[in-house]
Amino acid sequence: MLNLVLFGPPGAGKGTQSKKLIDKYDLIHLSTGDLLRGEIAQGTELGLEAKKLMDDGKLVPDAVVIGMISNKLDANKDAKGFIFDGFPRTVAQAEALDQLLESKQSAISGMTALEVNDDELERRLLDRGKESGRADDANPEVIRKRIKEYNDKTAPVAGFYQNQNKFKNINGVGSVDDIFGALVDVIEEYNK
Ligand code: AMP
Repeated sequence: MLNLVLFGPPGAGKGTQSKKLIDKYDLIHLSTGDLLRGEIAQGTELGLEAKKLMDDGKLVPDAVVIGMISNKLDANKDAKGFIFDGFPRTVAQAEALDQLLESKQSAISGMTALEVNDDELERRLLDRGKESGRADDANPEVIRKRIKEYNDKTAPVAGFYQNQNKFKNINGVGSVDDIFGALVDVIEEYNK
């Protein structure tokens, strides 16, 4: 199985690159952000709770996102592999993901990080907010909080995969196709 974690701060291009990767490798896309927005759209209790935190630029509790990922893994037993986008965002989530995959005789193939500087991220997120209608993209203060959450809680997840020799960094600034090419080069190494 090819199980990829696409890593990087909000606005790094994880969603854009995920779409291209799922087409090329026939993977299931698991974006916890999309799953949470789905819960909000359906007006579920989980969605209502999550919305408060998301609108404030904070992470939702680990147990909530781990539970959602566990359900999706169970619902896609015959998948060729998964691309995890926006998950794991804490070391506790990374540990839980390893355990979930191990219980299915599988494992993460590797994590690839898209590197983008903070100024470029803020510019991209404000641009995206004009089109996507995402409240958390429209407000510079919330954007800065999300980048801070990333630096405080999510950046350490890179070390978790580095310790397992499963981490690679690539430049996330440039054309979508060039970045995709660099990602494919990394993924082909996992496939060898
Ligand atoms: P995203 O679409 O990945 O930028 O996520 C949007 C928001 O959903 C984040 O700012 C968090 O509030 C929440 N969220 C998404 N994924 C996670 C996660 N793995 N852990 C905690 N919160 C998450």
